[in-house]
Amino acid sequence: MDDRFKYRDDREAYSAARVRALEALLIKKGVITDKSVDTVLDFFETRMGPFNGAKIVAKAWSDPAFKDRLVADTPKAIAELNLPEGMAGAEGEHMRAVANGPHVHNLIICTLCSCYPWPVLGLPPYWYKDPTFRSRAAREPRAVLKEFGLAVPDAVEIKVWDSSAQIRWFVVPERPAGTEHLSEMELEALITPETMMGVAVAKAS
Ligand code: FE
Repeated sequence: MDDRFKYRDDREAYSAARVRALEALLIKKGVITDKSVDTVLDFFETRMGPFNGAKIVAKAWSDPAFKDRLVADTPKAIAELNLPEGMAGAEGEHMRAVANGPHVHNLIICTLCSCYPWPVLGLPPYWYKDPTFRSRAAREPRAVLKEFGLAVPDAVEIKVWDSSAQIRWFVVPERPAGTEHLSEMELEALITPETMMGVAVAKAS
C-alpha cells in the first residue's frame, strides 16, 4: 500500500506512533483506562466486522428483493438477518448501502475524518484516515482507484459517498459472473472489506 500514493514513507509507523501517544495521554489524564482500547478493539474484531458485511452482501446477491430493501432502508433490512445485537449501535448509526451496477461504481470515503460503518466493515484501515487519501479520493477517484489496481471503465460513472456521523455508507459490490452455483456461505468468502468500500471489485475465486 505504501507506494500507491505520494505519502511519507513511514506513514503507517507514523500513524501508529501517534495513536500510541494519544492513548498514553488519555490514560494519564484518566479519560480511559488501559483496558478501554483493548475492549473496543476486541468488540470490533470478534463481534462487529466485515464478516457481518459479507453476510449482508451475500444475502443481497442471492435475493434481489432483499437487495432492494437493503438499498431502500438499510437498518431495517439488516434487522431481518440473524446478526449480532448492536448492528445499528456504536459506529453503525444511520448506515446506508449503495449498490454497484453495470453503469455505476461506488466509493466510500470520509473527507472530514474517518467515519465508517464499523458493524459491517470492522475497523477502518489506516490509509482510510490519511488526509492525502481523503482529499484525493474526492477530487480524482478514478486515478486513486487505478492506484488500488482497479481500472474503472470510462463509461462507468464513479460516485463518491462521503460518510459522516449522520450517514455511514457501504457498497454492495456486483456479484461476479460464474458464481451462480455458489451457496450464500461460499459467496461470503468473495466479499472483502475492500469490495464493500469500493476500492476493489468482488471476483470469483
Ligand atoms: Fe469521519
